[in-house]
Amino acid sequence: MKNISVIGAGTMGNGIAHVFAQTNFNVILIDVNAAQLEKAIATIGKNLDRQVAKGTLTEEQKTITLANLTTQTDVAVGVSNADLVVEATTENVELKLKIFKQIDDAAPAHCILASNTSSISITKIAAATKRPSQVIGMHFMNPVPIMKLVEIINGYATSKEVTNIIVELSKQLGKTPCSVNDYPGFIANRILMPMINEAIFSLYEGVAGVEEIDTVMKLGMAHPMGPLQLADFIGLDVCLSILRVLHDGFGNPKYAPCPLLVNMVTAGKLGAKSGEGFYVYTAGSKDLVVSNSFK
Ligand code: NAD
Repeated sequence: MKNISVIGAGTMGNGIAHVFAQTNFNVILIDVNAAQLEKAIATIGKNLDRQVAKGTLTEEQKTITLANLTTQTDVAVGVSNADLVVEATTENVELKLKIFKQIDDAAPAHCILASNTSSISITKIAAATKRPSQVIGMHFMNPVPIMKLVEIINGYATSKEVTNIIVELSKQLGKTPCSVNDYPGFIANRILMPMINEAIFSLYEGVAGVEEIDTVMKLGMAHPMGPLQLADFIGLDVCLSILRVLHDGFGNPKYAPCPLLVNMVTAGKLGAKSGEGFYVYTAGSKDLVVSNSFK
């Protein structure tokens, strides 16, 4: 495997391109939005500088990493010579089905097609292609250059051989792969999202305030971040959509999203990216939202 195409140059796509380029693969980063590609390359440059400053990367390795990276706005052109495509576009079923059809038509026959989706069924995505045995989930965690886990999701038709290739490739990237089967939320979000939802219910029912809930989980369970702050960083809209996937997929009321979460998303309070969620975010700092509902 030599040529990797990463589709989507957002939060996850730039990190995925970064780790592949740093491991000496030829990487084409693809996005329909040219400005987003420029921003992604600048972000990768900044993150590489940080690694050099920390002494975890040499100047020469940084130069090589950047030289391994090119960009492209045309998906068909960008995947035409790929051995592996990693799709990291917006979490939207219709969009992903359309993109996988497009990649399937344009990529070489041997090419493996992976999705970084947080919650969409790999089996469903694979069914949009003529090569379902070569479609797999490669769920990186944010921030990709730092987080060790890659959750590998085997769709109903994914071949053992393809799983083994992706497991070995993840190790080559310095990651720890965990192979799981394709059911709603896989493992990471099936366990994380009900915990976040329960934290929001605790706030909604007035059991405790934002700070108390997060402090209990940080100090009591040794979590590096409380569940409400983590929800803010993931994006409250993203949390809501994953809970809906769990709720619809299992038909179990235990996954029903808390009405407070629904209200906050409706009001445009999406967490860190919108400047306010359970906390207010100003110039990178974190302050508690001053609001009666959170007292
Ligand atoms: P994002 O919104 O930051 O980036 C998505 C990118 O996709 C944008 O740059 C957009 O221009 C591009 N895009 C949209 N349509 C496209 C098309 N047709 N062709 C090419 N590019 C297109 O999203 P993100 O947070 O990086 O998430 C990407 C994927 O990774 C999603 O499936 C998400 O569920 C998953 N994920 C996200 C996180 C996270 O913490 N953000 C963690 C794990 C997995």
